[in-house]
Amino acid sequence: MIGVFGGTFDPIHFGHLRSALEIGESLNLKEIRFVPCRIPPHRDAPLADPMQRLAMVRAALAGQPDMVLDDREIKRDGPSYMIDTLESLRSELTTEPLCLILGMDAFMGLSTWHRWQDLLNLAHLVVMQRPGKSLHDVNSKQAAEVTTLLKSRQVKDVKALQTKAAGSIFLHPISQLDISASKIREMVAKGKNPRYLLPDVVLQMIKVQKIYKTG
Ligand code: ATP
Repeated sequence: MIGVFGGTFDPIHFGHLRSALEIGESLNLKEIRFVPCRIPPHRDAPLADPMQRLAMVRAALAGQPDMVLDDREIKRDGPSYMIDTLESLRSELTTEPLCLILGMDAFMGLSTWHRWQDLLNLAHLVVMQRPGKSLHDVNSKQAAEVTTLLKSRQVKDVKALQTKAAGSIFLHPISQLDISASKIREMVAKGKNPRYLLPDVVLQMIKVQKIYKTG
């Protein structure tokens, strides 16, 4: 079983890394692919350019062989739709169970994703419980769609993920680290030190390349 962790990673931080490690261990994943997006379809353009975000993820994953960088979205032109990424992974990995890892906040917006109803034909969803985010925080139409999907697809036993290539949703509790990339960008822009929220090697790149400094 292989994990797929998509994100903007602007920048990658310990909230991503610690969650990935915990999920990898508890689901016994062979590996987790970190897939930085080129153009996020649902949010403002990232501040760091694609090559900088790729380099920050690569540096953060060094020395952790079961976490690997996958640059297919960065190489692909146009908006980075997860459905295209999963189709491409599925064609390479044939019947291997795939687990798309996403935070509760991302899951809550699932019904706005391109071809969202096809995602579960290609992968399972592993939803991380994130501080301060619950299913009730979204507008009622989105919440209703996601709740209905969850009701029909939720499994509570990891074995249910291993026996099929795709199609189930698993809610995964993780250590609650209230860290976000936006908070880190804001700190850097204000001249505050975000050390201990992200790997030193990533912070070093941010400083040397002045990635989030304004003005
Ligand atoms: P931003 O603050 O810019 O929105 P972010 O910190 O949420 O960024 P992303 O790269 O957008 O980072 O997130 C990629 C995925 O990681 C999303 O599914 C998101 O929910 C999840 N994630 C981000 N931070 C955490 C965290 N602290 N704990 C658990 N999951 C997280």
